[in-house]
Amino acid sequence: MSRSEQFASDNYSGICPQAWGAMAEANRMDEPAYGEDQWTTRAADGLRELFDTDCEVFFVFNGTAANSLALASMGQSFHSVICHELAHIETDECGGPEYASNGAKLLLGTGADGKLTPQSIEHLVTKRTDIHYPKPRAVSLTQATEVGTVYTPEELRAIRSVADQYRLNVHMDGARFANAVAALDVHPSEITWKAGVDVLCFSGTKNGLAMGEAVIFFNRDLAEDFEWRCKQAGQLASKMRYISAPWCGLLKDNVWLDNARHANACAEQLEQGLARSPGVSLRYPRQVNGVFADLPEPLQAFLRNKGWRFYNFIGGCSRLMCSWSTSTEQVDRFLADIDHWNRNHRG
Ligand SMILES: *Cc1c(COP(=O)(O)O)cnc(C)c1O
Repeated sequence: MSRSEQFASDNYSGICPQAWGAMAEANRMDEPAYGEDQWTTRAADGLRELFDTDCEVFFVFNGTAANSLALASMGQSFHSVICHELAHIETDECGGPEYASNGAKLLLGTGADGKLTPQSIEHLVTKRTDIHYPKPRAVSLTQATEVGTVYTPEELRAIRSVADQYRLNVHMDGARFANAVAALDVHPSEITWKAGVDVLCFSGTKNGLAMGEAVIFFNRDLAEDFEWRCKQAGQLASKMRYISAPWCGLLKDNVWLDNARHANACAEQLEQGLARSPGVSLRYPRQVNGVFADLPEPLQAFLRNKGWRFYNFIGGCSRLMCSWSTSTEQVDRFLADIDHWNRNHRG
């Protein structure tokens, strides 16, 4: 095993140069703490400008906190949140949303390709309305989804109309929001507030920061007292500028979008190479920066032995993630190793 390379996750990547540069700049002198600094003001204003609306913006350390605290602000402990059965809030947050809300339950819906359907939401809302059932109060959508697909603006608006009908707030887990914007080639407002999203958790971590997620309330009423919720949960950074300055680095000249476009393009290159490979099939349509493929087990073993790292999950398929730091040469090396295996090892 001569080298170690990865398609394991976009959070294996480092800090992108523009974010690193902004962090170095913020390190030049002392600044007020707890978000009272100029960087935090600039980053929040930059996000308001990006979304073209007067939203409320908060910064927290990670995605689990962003989702959990945002969802907790959307209802009471006796309410419930409807999400897809594959949603990160259900499968990978260790009960964080339920904990932050003092017990609000997640209700699991379904839909092809990791996407909740309006029908599934309506079914969960209407199947019980009695006092013994946790009252649905929010819908959580992941954009892009856990399986690398995206909700179109039309799909989002259809979900919003069901949400309106049943008085549900709409939360968006945007761990890969940037990749969704890049894939759909829309203005960020088109798949958020213009499509009825109340709160977006916009990830900087997977886009090229060390850490830091923006919790963006388009529905400003829901943001009431949110800063206290963050503080109580241990999510108010005292040296906030080290989260917000890198965000300024991402926002300037739309670096966030370039990073996402690059990651998506690498995944597309990977997808095209895999599609030509015998014995390999794709599990989901590739729309953003991840490819979900069924690779023969001996091929997986061969690749891992060559030093490639990637995860298997969601029904056992291999998930190959690209990030801002993935190179096209790296994709070529991976595909060359697969070609090598096909030539020498296939029976
Ligand atoms: C990575 C990710 C998160 C955030 O995870 P943290 O490890 O808590 O930062 C949230 N949602 C999805 C879909 C993710 O992939």
